[in-house]
Amino acid sequence: SREVHLVARPVGEPDPTDFSLVETSVDEPGPGQVLVRNDWISVDPYMRGRMNDTKSYVPPFQLGEPMEGGAVGTVVSSGSDDLPVGTAVSHFAGWREYALLPEKAVRPVDTSLAPAQAYLGALGMVGLTAYAGLTEVAEVREGDTVFISGAAGAVGSIAGQIARQLGAKRVVGSAGGPEKKRRLLEEFGFDAAIDYREGSLTKQLAQAAPDGVDVYFDNVGGDHLQAALNVMNEFGRVALCGQIASYNATEPVPGPNNMFMAVGKRLNLRGFIVGDHNHLAGEYARRAAGWIAEGKLHTEETVVDGIDNSVQAFLDMMRGANTGKMLVRLPQQ
Ligand code: NDP
Repeated sequence: SREVHLVARPVGEPDPTDFSLVETSVDEPGPGQVLVRNDWISVDPYMRGRMNDTKSYVPPFQLGEPMEGGAVGTVVSSGSDDLPVGTAVSHFAGWREYALLPEKAVRPVDTSLAPAQAYLGALGMVGLTAYAGLTEVAEVREGDTVFISGAAGAVGSIAGQIARQLGAKRVVGSAGGPEKKRRLLEEFGFDAAIDYREGSLTKQLAQAAPDGVDVYFDNVGGDHLQAALNVMNEFGRVALCGQIASYNATEPVPGPNNMFMAVGKRLNLRGFIVGDHNHLAGEYARRAAGWIAEGKLHTEETVVDGIDNSVQAFLDMMRGANTGKMLVRLPQQ
């Protein structure tokens, strides 16, 4: 079995030489353990933070150790009565082909509802992030105008569609490039789309949201946050979900420079981490399954094959190569 190790802490944009693909042996499971063949592994922006040796809400990856992350796979050898061979499971021992895990570290997934990899996207942490950010953090209400940055990505593309289901009147998204702009409108049902490379964000946003913005779901930070503050309506709410514009930065990125906007407009800006909203998981799973069945939640994946391409998949995702969820597919037999 092969697994990806972090071997050097990246400065700025990670380099492929910061990682190493390492061959290891696979042991048979003992009582209460399962051996899982990973079928899909997730690459996510928060992993960039874990490559730094700094204190955060998740501990840093250890040098010379396999990295961790979301994965779904199939039990191929089992020492657990509850998880027979063939069970599809999700867990956090990603970045490797096989994982030997205690039974309590894996969760069976219901593949009658959606294919297993959906539990790394719409039906997993990504979908719950969109839902929690909109419902509990920004408290979207009927008739709101909602702006979402990073809108063609995994969280953003789902957030746009959920905002609509929650009663938003107008949903505006931003992403990089004309092709993503087109997809926001045609595939993800946004009312208006902005290509942030095309010039002034504030001008484009003011045009896209002529009645102002009531809720901003921020995946990017930096100049996107200032543009949103500029066009927010009084008593607007901002869910601070991510700051991808600065994850690889070695210098402070240009960011909000007029926070008085938040004072004058009596805005509520609130950061959140999805792990604090797990109590919503059941409610979200039920609603998301319904929306998918009714054709109201369109999900997309960008798929890269093979563990040997997983680092490149991560680097490419950070540069915007993905639409929807970036996933690595491993041989499924
Ligand atoms: P995405 O699928 O959105 O992939 C990342 C995207 O970021 C790229 O496709 C790219 O799209 C965009 N991007 C990269 N650099 C920049 C930049 N400088 N300016 C603007 N956009 C940029 O990833 P996720 O959906 O998994 O994550 C989205 C955000 O949500 C991240 O900030 C992440 O950290 C955050 N997050 C937060 C969670 C929480 O609990 N708070 C949980 C999960 C995610 P483009 O081509 O449009 O540039």
